[in-house]
Amino acid sequence: MRVAQLGSGTPEVAVVAGVHGDEPSGVRAVEQLLEERPSVERPVKLVIANERAIECGVRYLEEDLNRAFPGDPDAATHEGRLAHRLTDELADCLTFSMHSTQSHAEPFAIVDGVGDLTRRIVPQLPVSAMVETGNFADGRLFSTIETIEVECGLQGSERAIQNAHRLLRAFLTAVGVLPGDTVRTEVPVYQLTDVIDKQRAETYEVFVENFVEVETGETFAAADGIEQVADESFYPVLMSPYGYQDVFGYTADRIDVLTPPPAAD
Ligand SMILES: [Zn+2]
Repeated sequence: MRVAQLGSGTPEVAVVAGVHGDEPSGVRAVEQLLEERPSVERPVKLVIANERAIECGVRYLEEDLNRAFPGDPDAATHEGRLAHRLTDELADCLTFSMHSTQSHAEPFAIVDGVGDLTRRIVPQLPVSAMVETGNFADGRLFSTIETIEVECGLQGSERAIQNAHRLLRAFLTAVGVLPGDTVRTEVPVYQLTDVIDKQRAETYEVFVENFVEVETGETFAAADGIEQVADESFYPVLMSPYGYQDVFGYTADRIDVLTPPPAAD
């Protein structure tokens, strides 16, 4: 874990990249910010989380870090111990955690619930949607730390790096670390309702777009050519053929639209 800071004093805001070692976009955005060293109006902590996994170019070494929180100093796995150290490091900080995905090119935010803070900040980020995990937050960073996660785009793509940089700048502006104004937009909110299980198979296919409603009776995926048909309509979220080992992704309901807060005078 690498920890840096811009500005002096005790930070109440933090940025985390590299929770997953094979998602370089957030790491690059943080490194770029550290090179630019912008002057800040309040201090911010910058953390590169799983350096060993990043060096190896893998999601994790022994256990998915974003399922390992709160962690334990005596945990059996590298990620279990790291989760504990990260929780310590981020305590009392509003945290912005950057990821990338195999499922969707457009940036979107993930939170565990819609609170005042997310209502205020997320409409100021360049995201096309916000996902509320509800009951599916187990072991994720925001189960212990107040966190807004963002998916910056497709893993390893140049666009995800550019998106990560824009998202990071927008977040730091929204919380008053960087000076200036943000662009405010309406953001639809989706709530996860279930996981979409994946049978053990050689090949997987997904036939639908994330955040586009799947109708009852529509074929949305296949495992070794065996089709999976929707019993009822749903919105697919974080869905991809090979992004996760055991699941295609999640079903979600569209529950709300966040409207931008009025701009401050
Ligand atoms: Zn990730």
